[in-house]
Amino acid sequence: MGPIRPPSEAYSILLRITRNCPWNKCSFCPVYKGEKFSLRTVDEIKSDIDAISSIADLITEKTEKYRNTPYHGQKIFSEISSDYNIDQSNVHQVAFWLNSGMKSLFLQDADSMVVKPDRLVEILNHIKKKIPSVQRITAYGRSKTTSNRSVEDLKSIRKAGLNRIHIGMESGSEKVLKILNKGVTPEEQISAGQKIREAGFELSEYFMPGSGGKEFSEENAVESARVINAINPTFTRIRTTTPIPNTPLFQMMQDKKWIPVSEEGRVREIRLFIEKLENITSVLTSDHMMNLLEDVEGEFPDGKKNMLETIDAFLSMSEMEKELFIIGRRLGRFRYLSDFRVDPEIEKIRTDLLERFPSIDEAVVVLSRNFV
Ligand code: SF4
Repeated sequence: MGPIRPPSEAYSILLRITRNCPWNKCSFCPVYKGEKFSLRTVDEIKSDIDAISSIADLITEKTEKYRNTPYHGQKIFSEISSDYNIDQSNVHQVAFWLNSGMKSLFLQDADSMVVKPDRLVEILNHIKKKIPSVQRITAYGRSKTTSNRSVEDLKSIRKAGLNRIHIGMESGSEKVLKILNKGVTPEEQISAGQKIREAGFELSEYFMPGSGGKEFSEENAVESARVINAINPTFTRIRTTTPIPNTPLFQMMQDKKWIPVSEEGRVREIRLFIEKLENITSVLTSDHMMNLLEDVEGEFPDGKKNMLETIDAFLSMSEMEKELFIIGRRLGRFRYLSDFRVDPEIEKIRTDLLERFPSIDEAVVVLSRNFV
């Protein structure tokens, strides 16, 4: 199994069809640093699919056999693991998936669109043949790679069963994409997104507020909205920028070459981004713990007003209330803005933080590292 999957794939089985990232140069991304990219052979992947199917059958058989034995779960895992020489964590993963209906599967790693279309079709056909319960197959793809695929090739992949592609757009600004070293232009992002939609896929595009730093905060919002408007993805997902130690972006921040946007500044950036989204039917989600306002969610066009009102509710709080909410959120005390209440313990933490840091924003940069 590879290291990551989108949060929306929590109930999916993970199937690695490549290892690591073929680009691996984005300045903010620590995930595959130091790891070499490689393709897996179709035979190797097919044998993993067969193994997943066999493990699921074994768990079902043994559950029936031991149905009257108390606490039989661990006995089943141990037996399958030792009889077939399979790591217990893999048996657990299949059992969890079996329990949730074996309906969705996520193709790892970072860019499954790099696999030649005919090979990808062969892999998808094998999944459908061996695990017919699967209704949804999803994958990460890079815009650069996908923009080089023909719509016909994408349609054949869609027809073979891949339903949804997750693309890390991050920004629609050329300048910000250079800072992020994303290796793609806004026009290539638009081309890839439009081809994916034309081929009939669901598409998730990820936007990173704050990625342009203070200097390009407004441009990041406006240009990213331009790209999203041109694509009209099924989902637009917010992923707040968090510089992570040992990444080039973190180093740029240490060298003062990239100045982070404050918490409130990022909320204003998201507001401008949403304000500029027009003539789309995308669903916007903030489904990540690094987003300050997880409540900002809705479907365009009708949900736009409500999303802006939620943001305005935060912006109209007093400075002290905003800081208390930010601290509570970053400490995991509040999930939603609607959870906010004045709490003497958080007030004390605020006082303590202001003794140790010049501002709450600077304290938050440090606190946030515990979440990523
Ligand atoms: S393409 Fe994705 S996985 Fe690869 S380096 Fe960039 S952000 Fe990381």
